[in-house]
Amino acid sequence: MEFIINLSYIAASVLFILGIKMLGSADTARKGNLVSSVGMLLAVVVTLLESGLDYTWIGAGLVIGSAIGVVWARRVQMTGMPELVALFNGFGGLGSLLVGWSEFARERDFGSSDYPTFTAFAVIFAILVGGITFTGSLIAYLKLSGKMSGSAFTFPGQKAINALLFLALVVVGGVFVATHAVWALYAIIALSLVLGVLGVIPIGGGDMPVVISFLNSFSGIAASAAGFVILNNVLIVAGCLVGASGIILTVIMCKAMNRTLGHVLFGSFGAAAGKSSAVEGEMKAITPEDAFFVLEAAQSVVFIPGYGMAVAQAQHAVKELGFLLEDNGAEVRYAIHPVAGRMPGHMNVLLAEADVPYEQLCEMDDVNAIIETVDVAIVIGANDVVNPAAAEDESSPIYGMPIINAHKARTVFALKRGKGTGFSGLENSLFFRENTRMIYGDAKETMTGLVAQFKG
Ligand code: NDP
Repeated sequence: MEFIINLSYIAASVLFILGIKMLGSADTARKGNLVSSVGMLLAVVVTLLESGLDYTWIGAGLVIGSAIGVVWARRVQMTGMPELVALFNGFGGLGSLLVGWSEFARERDFGSSDYPTFTAFAVIFAILVGGITFTGSLIAYLKLSGKMSGSAFTFPGQKAINALLFLALVVVGGVFVATHAVWALYAIIALSLVLGVLGVIPIGGGDMPVVISFLNSFSGIAASAAGFVILNNVLIVAGCLVGASGIILTVIMCKAMNRTLGHVLFGSFGAAAGKSSAVEGEMKAITPEDAFFVLEAAQSVVFIPGYGMAVAQAQHAVKELGFLLEDNGAEVRYAIHPVAGRMPGHMNVLLAEADVPYEQLCEMDDVNAIIETVDVAIVIGANDVVNPAAAEDESSPIYGMPIINAHKARTVFALKRGKGTGFSGLENSLFFRENTRMIYGDAKETMTGLVAQFKG
């Protein structure tokens, strides 16, 4: 039986790796998800074949957990996905913490005095990383869902306190590995939970995407440590895959925002310290009817989608307008900013769902290279990712973050409901520029209105 279980674990690991590879392209991503899911099912089923399991508890956990999961997954809006992912990461961390803790408690019940040093180390690592991931992710969830202010929360001596907490964790961890003292275990649990909270509250606004992928990586590392605790090969492999891919994504997100991980974690981005310069001028509104005449004459049009497109679910209407513009002889592109929306790849997912031709999607750098030749840039519910302050205003908290240079297009149409700011809470001078016209209203209604104009 052990041979079959280990063979199945290897098969499951191969399916995970193939699944991740397939996620690398939009064409194969759905299949990749399915392949990974089959791998996970296989891993779970063969794990349940191990001897000595108490099926009553497992059954109860499965029924209650599945019921909560199904109801939650069905109710969540697409725009609520990032905070749900943050919660998932958190519960992954909590799971690893509980595995480490219960395994230690079980060994003690068995009266084992010669606890292997390696296992003690793995226990403490699973608890430490799992605890930080759990409370850190809860804070990220609260910030993303707006239940807690998204801005950075700082107080004097915060960095020193965090450094001391970390030092205490290392020292008490060392004591546990050497002595297996129960008090040290409880102290590690408490310290890691506190460090998770204090580590994430000073990170604000625009840096949340990086934090989410970093915590995702952490949840994988914690799971891998838990795998070493209970000597489960597939948990070690799956945890390493999540840990490694999470850290790769973190680096990509940092590059996209022109920040280092150190800055994100220790820089208190979005703190009150940096206030951008006041924006002058007035916003000039235009009706969809008037915008139609400009679009009808345009030779090249770039759509720049943002979070507002996701809120309005405007992607189908956007694609329809794109097709009509093409029929009218215009060259149409969709410019994707890496952190537009509220999760990595958010815009890609929405546009793929609407069947926008893949070859019309352009990366930020490619669009910026030709933006000055573009007749009309249509900004659909995007704000921070087109804020010129990131390039022009050194006092702005988002200074240095790469943006799509929409303001350099000949004409800009900005679709939004009113004067609301973006995720970072900053004013955007793009909306006040000479070449910008605001089209107020829900993005889907505006888009449908423009489509109706084209159809005559
Ligand atoms: P923003 O959050 O900057 O702006 C969204 C804009 O959409 C708002 O100004 C709002 O203005 C408008 N809007 C909202 N609803 C509608 C609607 N129904 N119709 C029309 N407009 C609407 O979005 P961006 O995509 O530009 O930037 C993303 C931000 O989120 C960045 O700061 C990024 O760092 C952050 N972030 C990104 C994550 C990621 O992984 N991608 C994760 C977490 C945060 P109004 O209220 O006036 O309508």
